[in-house]
This record gives sequence, C-alpha cells and structure tokens, in this order.
Amino acid sequence: MAKQGVINNSTVDPNKILPMRYLWARKHYKDGVANNWTPEEISMQKDVEQWKSNDVLTDTERRLILWNLGFFSTAESLTANNLVLTVYKHVTNPECRQYLLRQSYEEAVHTDTFIYCCDSLGLNPDEIYTMYETIPSIKEKDDFVVELTKSMLNPDFNTIGSKNIQQFLHDLVGYYVIMEGIFFYAGFAMMLALKRQNKMVGIGEQFEYIMRDESIHLAFGCDLINTIKAENPEIWTADFQEKIVELIKQAVILEKQYAHDACPQGMLGINAQQFCDYVEYIADRRLERIDLPKVYGRTNPFPWMSQATDLSKEKNFFETRVTEYQTAGSLDWD
Ligand code: FE
Ligand code: MN
Repeated sequence: MAKQGVINNSTVDPNKILPMRYLWARKHYKDGVANNWTPEEISMQKDVEQWKSNDVLTDTERRLILWNLGFFSTAESLTANNLVLTVYKHVTNPECRQYLLRQSYEEAVHTDTFIYCCDSLGLNPDEIYTMYETIPSIKEKDDFVVELTKSMLNPDFNTIGSKNIQQFLHDLVGYYVIMEGIFFYAGFAMMLALKRQNKMVGIGEQFEYIMRDESIHLAFGCDLINTIKAENPEIWTADFQEKIVELIKQAVILEKQYAHDACPQGMLGINAQQFCDYVEYIADRRLERIDLPKVYGRTNPFPWMSQATDLSKEKNFFETRVTEYQTAGSLDWD
C-alpha cells in the first residue's frame, strides 16, 4: 500500500517540491533566510583588546570563554555531520530537505564563527579543537550524543517498521532536542551574561545570532518529531515516551555538570546553581514542545535570555547591517 508521510513515503518524488504538504518546513526555511548573517560582519576589535588586557577579564571568565569555544567549535561540526549523513538520507520530503540544506549551511556559518574567533583572539587551535576529548564534561556531552545516534550511521539502517521509526525518533531527539536544545544553552547563557556586562561583546553578539538560528533548528526538529508521531501514532507508546523523558533527564544532568565545571564559582553575580536552574527550565520547555509532561517546574532565572532571542529577531529585522547585507545580495544577482 502506498504510504504518505514525512518519512517512508513510497509515492514522494524528492525532486518535486510543489505542491507542498508541510508548510511549517517552508516557514522555517524562510525564517532562516531572513536571519542571514556571517561572523565577519561583527567586529572583534573590542574583544581582542579585552582579551589582551590584563585587567578586564577575570581568570574565571577567561576559562569559561575557552570552554565554550572548545565545546561549540566541535559541536557545530558534529551537528552538521549528523544532519547531512543521516537526517537528510531518511527524510525524503522535498520541503523538509530544503530546510535541511538551509540548516546545514547555517551550521557551516557557525563552524566558521569559531574559526573566526580563534583567528582573531590568536587562540591555539590544538587546545580549542581537542577540548571535546580532553575536558571530561565536554567529552561526556559529545559522547552522549554520538552514542545516542550511533545506530543511524549504520549504512543498513532504514526507517521501515515501528522499531526503526522509534529508533529514528529517538535519534532526532538526540540531535535536535538534546544537542541543539539543551547542550547549547548553559554556554549561551554564560556568553550572553558576559555580553550584558560589556565583556567580549563581539563573541556575545555572534552567540546571539547562533542562538537565534538554533531556536529555528529546534523548532524545525520539534515539528519533524511531532509530525512523525502524528503519522505513526502506534510508535508513541507509554514505554517509549518514558524512555525519551529518561534521555532528556540524563542530558540535563550532563549539562548541569558542564555548567558547574565551566563556572564553578559563578560569575558576575550569577552562581552556578542559577545556570543549573536555567538548564532545568529550558528542558521543561523542550519536553512540552514534544507533548511530554514537564519534569522540573523551575521558573526562568534569566528572563533576559528569552528577551535576547525575541529581541534579536526584531533587531535583526530592522537592523541596518542585515538590511545592507540583503540589499547587497540582491544587487549581486541583478
Ligand atoms: Fe549550530
Ligand atoms: Mn543547529
């Protein structure tokens, strides 16, 4: 029997994008394009001065900047590789694939951002790009995602049958909800807290742009997960839901561990516990997004974080830099 759906659709022609079926995928694509940016648009001048000066940054702050660069520099590539090598293969719907291409490009921009940061600050790439092996709480997060998503890298994996669809959904939760939706957020909060104090504002602005992109990646991922659930309701069993909640709880433990290790004495009036509360708060939001009950019931200790995502959307929309960028782009094509 011919099956219609976002995966396992035996009637889909991946080259025929119209008429569209999943308008959410189209919307996320357009939102991504409207948010276009590149790291070189953001000056690192002040960051370089502060990094070289002896009296702007504390040792705690320097250490957490290095840790976050260390985590993100390799995590962005890990995400891009997962996307291109596995998600793209199994999601055959053309408008979803168009979004995946856009997302892959954004991951390339994020990877480029960390190259730009290392170059401008004169950091040692051998130190930054090996932190995912040498720093235990970074390694544990990366290992967790790699382990979670291992089965999909098997060339014989397919999404036929309930067990395999569950496996696929499980891995999508690993990529989108855990990696991009939880493991990025203690780092985002630390770097944006610094920016609020006028420290490393260039990197801070780059992190804001990355966070805004990631919020769309996460939205796409949750729409994809929810669509697969709706089209294959038999797989969303109580046992399976419990398994997903357990994974998210384990991820929260690892992210809190990371927050404690990266910033043991707290910083700028924020203590390590508040970073942990924030991780629990966002984990509840992710659970709700895929129709699972929340676990932690925290209030948001950093309301300015949600403002940073919302405001930068507005800011971006009217901002001269981006407008110029878009104008320049269209002129090139005229
Ligand atoms: Fe990214
Ligand atoms: Mn991403």
